[in-house]
Amino acid sequence: MDSVVEALRNKIGQDSVLTGEPMSGHTTFRTGGPADIFIMPGCAEDVKTSIQILKDFEVPFMVIGNGSNLLVSDKGIRGAVIQIGGKMSGVEVDGENVYAEGGVLLAALSAKVAENALSGLEFASGIPGTIGGAVTMNAGAYGGEMRDVLVSVEVLTKDLEIKTIPVKDLELSYRHSILPTEGYILLRATLKLINGNPEAIRSRLTELSEQRREKQPLQYPSAGSTFKRPEGYFAGKLIQDAGLKGKSIGGAQVSEKHAGFVINTGKATTQDILDLITFCQKTVHEKFGVWLETEVKIVGEF
Ligand SMILES: Cc1cc2nc3c(=O)[nH]c(=O)nc-3n(C[C@H](O)[C@H](O)[C@H](O)COP(=O)(O)OP(=O)(O)OC[C@H]3O[C@@H](n4cnc5c(N)ncnc54)[C@H](O)[C@@H]3O)c2cc1C
Repeated sequence: MDSVVEALRNKIGQDSVLTGEPMSGHTTFRTGGPADIFIMPGCAEDVKTSIQILKDFEVPFMVIGNGSNLLVSDKGIRGAVIQIGGKMSGVEVDGENVYAEGGVLLAALSAKVAENALSGLEFASGIPGTIGGAVTMNAGAYGGEMRDVLVSVEVLTKDLEIKTIPVKDLELSYRHSILPTEGYILLRATLKLINGNPEAIRSRLTELSEQRREKQPLQYPSAGSTFKRPEGYFAGKLIQDAGLKGKSIGGAQVSEKHAGFVINTGKATTQDILDLITFCQKTVHEKFGVWLETEVKIVGEF
């Protein structure tokens, strides 16, 4: 392990490679044990170099953005985590075209495009992820989703080639894209927005943020909606109708405010959250015959 860390640090910089890094600091659930190696590349070239080194040393790796859709094992993650985050968050606006590096947060991106009087990304302003995570998940809210505004992405392939892929080839559907199965790492995204009225954009942003504050338990760590919406139902409604609102296991709780959210009330472990997820799945299945699939991605050593 020491030699791979040394090789990484020599190539991409001492401060960009951490060891034994607690994932609780990199997930919005605020749980998760240590990643053996935690890499924060500063540019596309650093991503490529890091992966080449990890491959040479046969170290497994995974990519994360802001960790807002992840549930990481209490034992942590063996191998390396590559975070496409704050160090890769440049944005350029050219007319109605927007070029965003993979690590930019949607909040920052929607604020930037609003400053440029561009409309179309208002729906995403309260989603606490990066553009990389949002395209991977085809994140959506309030009637909008990433595929509505995306033109193409620049990715690093498994063979370490940089490729531009048009949106139609990403198979974006409800909380799904081909990025994980193809092993694509999103480096940059091109969006197409439309010129709008700055006042109308600002007021839509305020309206949506108020709606979130009113309906969602934003004061607690969570990963947003824990479960995908089952065909013909709403996960939160099923959980509520099953009598599980407020149900707790350890420090994990089905939110009193929004039953679709499992929250960390302060001292939850990932195991508490997983046990509560399983309890909800089984109870809802017994009562209504519907199996709730997690939207949250469960990763790490189990
Ligand atoms: C309070 C709250 C509210 C939320 N509201 C919404 C909502 O309204 N709508 C919604 O859709 N989601 C919502 N979410 C969930 C989450 O914010 C989104 O899924 C978000 O898009 C995840 O982005 P991320 O950067 O945090 O990705 P992560 O959680 O870090 O990763 C998610 C997946 O994307 C992959 N990934 C991340 N970056 C890259 C990259 N650069 N290249 C390749 N793969 C990558 C990871 O490997 C992982 O598979 C909410 C979460 C919270 C905590």
